[in-house]
Amino acid sequence: MNWQTLKLGEVLKILDVDFENGLSVNEVKKRQKKYGKNALKSSKKKSFFGKVLEQFSDFMVITLFIAAGISFAMSFVHKNNEYVDSIVILVIVIFNAIIGVTQETKAEKAIESLKKLTESSTKVLRNKREQYVLSQELVPGDILLLESGSLVPADARIIKAKNLKVEESVLTGESSSVDKNENSIFSDSTQISDMANMLFSTSFIVSGRTISVVVETGMNTQVGKIANLIDHGEAPATPLQTRLTKTGKTLSIVTLIICSIIFILGLIQGISFLDIFMISISLAVAAIPEGLPAVVTLALAVGVNRLAKKHAIVRKPPSVETLGCASVICSDKTGTLTQNKMSVVEIRDANSMLNINDILSTQIIFFSALCNNSKQTISSILGESTENSLLEAAIKLGKTKIELEKIMPRIKEIPFDTSRKIMTTIHKYNPDSNINNLNKYFLQDVIITKGAPDILINLCTSYKKNDKIFNLDNFIIKKIKNNCEEMASDGLRTLAIAYKKLDNINKNPEENLIFLGLIGISDPPRIEAKESVKRCLEAGIKPVMITGDHILTAKAIASKLGILQTKTMAITGLELNKINQNILEKKIFSYSVFARVTPAHKVRIIKAFQARGAVVAMTGDGVNDAPALKVADIGCAMGLSGTDVAKSASDIILTDDNFSTIVEAISQGRGIYKNIKKTVHFLLSTNVGEVVLVLLAFLMRLPSPLFAIQLLWINFVTDSFPALALAIDPIEKNIMKHAPINSKENLFSGNIGQKILIEGCFIGILATITFIIGRNLYDLDISEPIVGRTMAFVSLGLSQLTHAFNVQSEESIFKTGIFTNIKLILAIIMCMFLQIIVTIIPWLTDLFGTVQLSLNQWLIVIFMSILPIFISEIEKILFKNTKIKFKNRKLTKLQSNLN
Ligand code: ATP
Repeated sequence: MNWQTLKLGEVLKILDVDFENGLSVNEVKKRQKKYGKNALKSSKKKSFFGKVLEQFSDFMVITLFIAAGISFAMSFVHKNNEYVDSIVILVIVIFNAIIGVTQETKAEKAIESLKKLTESSTKVLRNKREQYVLSQELVPGDILLLESGSLVPADARIIKAKNLKVEESVLTGESSSVDKNENSIFSDSTQISDMANMLFSTSFIVSGRTISVVVETGMNTQVGKIANLIDHGEAPATPLQTRLTKTGKTLSIVTLIICSIIFILGLIQGISFLDIFMISISLAVAAIPEGLPAVVTLALAVGVNRLAKKHAIVRKPPSVETLGCASVICSDKTGTLTQNKMSVVEIRDANSMLNINDILSTQIIFFSALCNNSKQTISSILGESTENSLLEAAIKLGKTKIELEKIMPRIKEIPFDTSRKIMTTIHKYNPDSNINNLNKYFLQDVIITKGAPDILINLCTSYKKNDKIFNLDNFIIKKIKNNCEEMASDGLRTLAIAYKKLDNINKNPEENLIFLGLIGISDPPRIEAKESVKRCLEAGIKPVMITGDHILTAKAIASKLGILQTKTMAITGLELNKINQNILEKKIFSYSVFARVTPAHKVRIIKAFQARGAVVAMTGDGVNDAPALKVADIGCAMGLSGTDVAKSASDIILTDDNFSTIVEAISQGRGIYKNIKKTVHFLLSTNVGEVVLVLLAFLMRLPSPLFAIQLLWINFVTDSFPALALAIDPIEKNIMKHAPINSKENLFSGNIGQKILIEGCFIGILATITFIIGRNLYDLDISEPIVGRTMAFVSLGLSQLTHAFNVQSEESIFKTGIFTNIKLILAIIMCMFLQIIVTIIPWLTDLFGTVQLSLNQWLIVIFMSILPIFISEIEKILFKNTKIKFKNRKLTKLQSNLN
């Protein structure tokens, strides 16, 4: 329907809604059934079996299946029992695929449940009540109450609008905002961008307010019509996943080359073609690290859930990776570093402090309660906390906002915004209201302006003292500024109030004002913020305060919290305007407080830090913060006070608006990165171990040390469970005692590559020695070394399990202990159990080609399996000294820059 062409009355009639009451609950239910969800349709997700099948599309797995099939057929031709081998191979591979898919599905579900937390909600009028509902529950006929910062959740026709400006760039490509109003009607052929009486889904309110009625939802909206199916199914690969896939490919090629060499060596040794083919292919399947990207998915999913429990909702999973690299946190002051519990504690006129019961004090407070957008209900005050504190002060003086507005109803408003830092309201005196004692404050129509004193003072030409008006000269201006600075130095947020008589509504209301006085509002720092600032500094992260408040207020709070230190400085937005970007980049690390800044300054600040190689986390809440949140490496929107626009531009939403949450999120980010690194370390070193064992044996012209089934068993069963447990290891306690992760560092830096090779070779060599010992000491037929194979099989399996403890921490396990991750312990016990039973239970020994070992043989195997721990301990001591020196140097350098 062309809703823009209809009269408002017709629209409401068609939609059968009364805009003063909204829809009833029953009606909403009926319409939800009829119209469905207000969401764009997404393509279907892959089913469980679809995903399992996908696991078998890997080239090597297919080859293995073909080889097993051939072996199966051959055993029928030769009428022997070897077909059992092929079946077991298939079972192991299928089992592994199912584990893989289960993990993947779990990770997906975890992410999916978080999506629910980030689903947007909208303020509506239903059943005569204002309430927030999930945007996807909206139906045609719902009455929307939108204001600056709200996202438009569906297509709607405007019923009422006040100073309404809307940004529709997603739909029209036009990034400047457009004016909207309820008045006009348009023809059928009007372009969307010109329909000033309509709001469209995906646009947002830049300023002003509106009451509108939903006319179309979901796929019927303009966006729905142009959108193709949106694929919510698969998240795009994160940078780490992409890097790992690349690394995996290189390693695959190396493995394939080695397997081909083994294949040729085996043929030369006269092993049957099919047997050596199966062994080579199994080795390839076992050693090719195809599961690496899945490990990242799991570690990220678990991390994202842990973060949600700690009040940080991750909107874009790759940002978890970036968190660990964060080296600068730019934080708002109000509410993030402070408690946002505001109360008026001081009032001054142009000269001096006033008594709260003074007539002028009372007038200042009453005027500030009128020039105010907080709403007072019977039980509470709803609104922005600066404004709430002013209403509370008025109540203490005996008057509510409702009473004040009865005598001085508002007729116009010029809203507050963070760039102007002032707001103005115009009030008409109502002589009929018979509210006691108020006439001495109000006798005429007035304009009231409140805002930042340094800005407001420039709009005043006179001031009030002892009920008289005087000219504002430089002497008094200086006095007011001094008063203001004194209050700000005590950490108070300062507001100035001015007014003038309204004589002509068309004249500029914000000029020639009469200065009334100053209000000092206290907002104590958050108790936990000081500790978090300390954690940052220890971790080589620079905390920075960015605020719209007065520089002295900012400095006072920043010093209390430890953000402003001897070596760092504070600067104002005005001063920033005077320095060019090159100079700002050079000096940026010397500033830790930016005061009286506008959102536009935020972008400059982030860019300057980034130009110096920093990875920047930035908080924001308003509409104008969206560009800064996008430019920052990690944009953190406020969950409580943030606008929809800020939230939708952010990477992370802080549900408690708290600075400490960002610091905690960074520590989690570091932990997640470490877990990924540990898991890759573990998986690759054990794979190297397997390759080294088989390769060495063939180079030494020994029989194959393992059967194909044994190789697959070790790789799929004993490797995979500890790897999964390592991916979700608890965060180490001292994680914030290190410098941030270098964003350019790869997973193999910090000697990990070397360690993987050394440890892998060592595990492989130990297993080869065990094989040789078993074969030479205990096997009767050394061409079919069944004891040697069993010993090599068990020792390789068990040494990989003990190796999981080695990679768990860079510290000695004698220092950290082995009980830090109960899941790892359980995984290891389970795998040990599985590894042991295949050598004990008779039918399993038949299947796996093993024998029961004697006590002596077990002792040898156990000794060989725990040796990797000692080697790793020696390696830790050797690597640690050089690494710690290097790390400490880096951290000390960072810390000395910050202090
Ligand atoms: P941040 O949250 O970024 O630390 P802020 O919220 O203190 O900063 P703004 O909201 O931009 O920053 O406020 C800047 C200044 O504007 C305040 O110091 C105060 O003087 C004035 N101000 C704040 N809120 C209002 C308001 N509702 N009406 C009038 N003036 C206001």
